[in-house]
Parts: sequence; structure tokens; C-alpha cells
Amino acid sequence: MSKVRIYTLAKELGVESQRMLAILDSLGVEYKSASSTLDEGTVQAVKEIAAEPSEAKNTPTASQGAPETGGAAPGVEAVPQKIFPHRAPTVTVMGHVDHGKTSLLDFIRHTKVAEKEAGGITQHVGAFEANTKRGRVVFIDTPGHEAFTSIRERGAQVADIAVIVVAADDGVMPQTREAIAHAKAAKVQIVVAINKIDLPGVNVDRIKEELSREGVIAEDYGGDVPVIPISARTGQGVDDLLEYLNLVAELADLRADPDGELKGVVIEARVDRQAGVLATVIVQNGTLRVSDFLVIGETYGKVRALTDANGARITQAGPGTAVQLLGFSETPHAGDTATRARDEHVAREQVQARKQDRLDAEDARVRRLPPRPGGPPTLFELLGNPGEAPAEERDVNVILRADTQGSVEAIKGVLERAGTEDVKVNLLFAGIGAPTEGDVLLASTGAAIILCFNVTAPGSVKKMADLKGLQVKTYKIIYELVDEVQHLVRGTVAPVFEDRYAGKAEVRMVIRVPKAGGNIAGSYVQDGHIMRGAKARVLRKGKEFAKSSVSGLKRFKEDVREVQSGYECGINLANFDEFEAGDIIEVFETVEVTPGS
Ligand code: GDP
Repeated sequence: MSKVRIYTLAKELGVESQRMLAILDSLGVEYKSASSTLDEGTVQAVKEIAAEPSEAKNTPTASQGAPETGGAAPGVEAVPQKIFPHRAPTVTVMGHVDHGKTSLLDFIRHTKVAEKEAGGITQHVGAFEANTKRGRVVFIDTPGHEAFTSIRERGAQVADIAVIVVAADDGVMPQTREAIAHAKAAKVQIVVAINKIDLPGVNVDRIKEELSREGVIAEDYGGDVPVIPISARTGQGVDDLLEYLNLVAELADLRADPDGELKGVVIEARVDRQAGVLATVIVQNGTLRVSDFLVIGETYGKVRALTDANGARITQAGPGTAVQLLGFSETPHAGDTATRARDEHVAREQVQARKQDRLDAEDARVRRLPPRPGGPPTLFELLGNPGEAPAEERDVNVILRADTQGSVEAIKGVLERAGTEDVKVNLLFAGIGAPTEGDVLLASTGAAIILCFNVTAPGSVKKMADLKGLQVKTYKIIYELVDEVQHLVRGTVAPVFEDRYAGKAEVRMVIRVPKAGGNIAGSYVQDGHIMRGAKARVLRKGKEFAKSSVSGLKRFKEDVREVQSGYECGINLANFDEFEAGDIIEVFETVEVTPGS
């Protein structure tokens, strides 16, 4: 007998995946993923345990939550802490143009989504829920992986699984590679659907081989990526695909607390002429209700109405559901997270604080960029202070674009050796042809530099990169490109930062404003300069009284970035407003001290 995959065995025995895992744990079996293989002995042992009558089979959650029920299989360890219920997985579909993403989503939508009650027109909400034998699956159907990537760019993780669609008659194409790179960067589970197998003469093995070359190894090739042949046209294999999605999700053990703190992610938002702002949110934790006050990114609002993914009006939505909400006056961004606020006042304050934080951070970033006449920038200048970053974040992430497969391979080979023990060079993506806007998105989420060899970036791509503060560089000589990477590798290790005294101001008058952001210190700059966003300390009678940062700086009624000595200004400090006349506010700037040069 050959080896058996975990989910194949779970399927064969009709065992809930959670119970399957509990059984494996009890046997002390180590596994990497749902598709890890089990040897014959283990399979036998699992079969024996699974055959025993067990409450766990029917009520897995309850039996795990209550250690004393005795319902679990012998030796199966119960988990003592509170166990939250499972939530439905969120799935995104990606792949090369024309490989059948839309067709697949359409097929699933038409066959697996419960018909809406009488007469209603199902609107597009950017997601839909499919009902499968093993449970619900939420599909994101905002177009393409750009949406997915821009969501991640804002720091949100929305998909649990990425289905990568590859057309059997076309094979792995540039956007397939991009999709793989994006899914890997997001650390989501990949499932491959080889589509169009209804066409004559297709060769699934050839596609699997191509995938292996991209580091996506199918199970029967010794890897752990489920690869399922389907036809979005005839529907062949689609049930299998859905079943795999459920199995993968079950084994990932996705859980959420419906009574916990609300957390959701916006996957799409738009303005409807009649309805106003419509935002689709996937609830990840807690329960979203009509009348809730929500803070989403830098906007807030009261939920006036909720529409579920099938177009029905609902009053609440728990974890693992997609809902469209109405009630915002400003449009949030895809990728913003939604949280609940106690009331409107709190919501407004949170939004104000976020805006201020962003402004301060932007200012701080501008200030942190020291001009560097001549010489290429260090990675620090591109990406922020690496000294504060964990080792992984100091790595040099590269997206490579070159004119031919030959040059891609050649440069790849050299780059692999360009890292050091401390700083690795990670090639997030390498492709033939000019860089695309998708590359810029990937660079932005992956904090990468885009290096081009014998290809140039189109204007739109350059512009987008500029807006995001990313570098796109073109080379005609491989050696120079590699040199740049080595420079980045060195540059990331070197810079050290120091807080340096920049100026001080004397508080002459305290302006009491109980509501808006606390008291303002009407001050006179005695020395140097005061900058918004700068670190600050308050000295009272010559002794340090408080540490803070300059959260607001005004000249007359205008917000300003900097005030020089000899001028008066109004100063707000973050989390401190008990000023007294005569206090001294000292500010500091962060400067780079380059060691040894
Ligand atoms: P997308 O660009 O990835 O969204 O691809 P579409 O879903 O628009 O499909 C591109 C083309 O392939 C369309 O003409 C579809 O009718 C066709 N197509 C999609 N799936 C299949 C399939 O399973 N078999 C066949 N024969 N054609 C398909």
C-alpha cells in the first residue's frame, strides 16, 4: 500500500478534519499540512481510532471544549481553553487573463448560491457565499488579484486560500507567476485549479511540471499543493475543488469569536448615486450589527443597513461572512479594517487620532530622509529604519524584470549568492518583459525594489512607483545590477540612528481647549527649531517632567511643520497637556550616524 494524504484519509473515513487532527496529535504524528502523507502503520492506527464510537464525531466543538465529557477517542487530548466556533474560509481566485477565473466564479455562483427570495435583484457586493457539502465558502469576486494585493498593501490579510487558475491549453503564463508570487508573499494556502480540461488533447501532467518549476509542487509530485483538474464550462471537477477548499480550511482550523471584539476588512467600497457609500466588509471576528458605530480606516459612520452576499437585508453578520454596509459619508479603502466604537464621539476621536498619526508619520518620514548627494540610496532611505526592524525585515527584497528568460536565469543565479548571513536577498518575483503595475503593488506589499535589465518601465508604472515611494531601476549591464543589490545588502546593515537635540521653546501661556485634542502650549522658540512629529520632553524647574512628541504645531491658526527660534507658536504634545507657564519643551530629531565612514 502506498502513502496516503491526510485529507484523502479524512475524506475516505468520513471524519471531520478537526477530529482527524486530534487523532493524529494523539498518535504523536507530525504533519506539515493537510496534504502531508501518512505511512501504512499510521493509517491503520487512525482507522482503528476513527472506528470507535465517539461524540466527537458529531459534536467536535463541544467535545473539545469540555475535557470531562469522555466522548473523545482514547488518548485524544482535549483543549482546556475556550474554543471558538469555526468560521467559513475566504477564498480569492487568481491567475492569467483568459484562464477562466470569471467563468469559475460564475459557475460556482450559479450552482452553489442559494436563490434569493422572490423578485430581488442580486447586486454585486464584491463577494458571494457558496454552500457546499462541508459548509460555507466565501469567495471574493472583486476583479483580479490587484484588489487582493491592494488589500494586503494596507496590512490586512483577507484571504485564507488562493485558488490559482491555470488553463490546461495554455499552461503557466506571466500572470500565473505573478499570482503565485502574490499568494506566497501573503502566506496564504495555494490550491491550483487546472481549468479547461474539457478541451481535447490537454495534458495535466505538463502543467504540473510547469508549476513545479515555479516552486508549486503538486501532491503526486511529492509536494503539498492540491492540484485539481476542472472545467468551468462543464462543471467537471468543481465539486472536488470545493471539497478541497473545505478540507484545507478545516485543517487550517479557522476560528473566530462571534461575541468577541469586532474586526472586519473592507474588500470593496464605492459610491452609489442613490444609496451613497456602499462598502463590502468581510467580518473576521465578532458580530456586526445594524446601528453599530464603526471606524474604518480614517472614516466612521453608523451602520444604517446591512445586505448579505446574496442581496438579502439582514440585521447582523457574524465571523466569516461578507456584508455590504450602508451609512458612511466618506468612502473607505479596500484593505481598511473595521472596528466598533462605543458611540459617535469615540468614533470621531479615533478617526481624528488616526489622521493625525498618519500626518505625523508622513512628516517624520520626510524628515528621516537625509539628502545623500551622489551615491545610490541605502535601503534604509527607501524603506525606513532597518536598525529597528527584525532581521527578516532587513532582507533585501527584489522584483526582477529582464528581456529574456536567459538573462532572468543568469541574474537569478547571481542574486541568490548576493546575500550575507545577516541579510538575505529574496527574489519575490522574476519575469520577462517590462514591469507592470502589479509588480509595483507586489513591491509595495513586499517592501521590494524593482530592478529591470534591458527593459524599461512604462510611464504609468513609474508614476505609480513614485507615488508609493518605490524605486524602479534599469540596468544594461548585469554586473551593475548585481552591484546595486550588494550595495543594498551592505546599506541595510550599516546605519545607526541617534536622537539629537534640535531646539527648545518656553511655554508662556496655556491655552485651554478642553475638547479639541487637549491644552495648547502658547510658546516662544528660544533655540534651534521645533518640528511637528519630533520627539519631545517637558522640563519643569529644570527637571524632566514628561516625555512625548509634538503632535500639533501652529503659527497663528495655521498648522505648520516647523517653527524657528525667535518665533511664537502653539504646541500640542501627544498624551500630555498639563502645561504650566515657564515649562521648557525640548525637541529632538533622529539623525543617521554612519559608522566608520
Ligand atoms: P478570466 O480572464 O480568467 O476571467 O477568463 P474568463 O472566465 O473570462 O474565460 C476566458 C475564456 O475562456 C472565455 O471565452 C471562456 O468561455 C473560456 N473558458 C473558461 N473556462 C473554460 C473551460 O473550462 N473550458 C473551455 N473550453 N473554455 C473555458
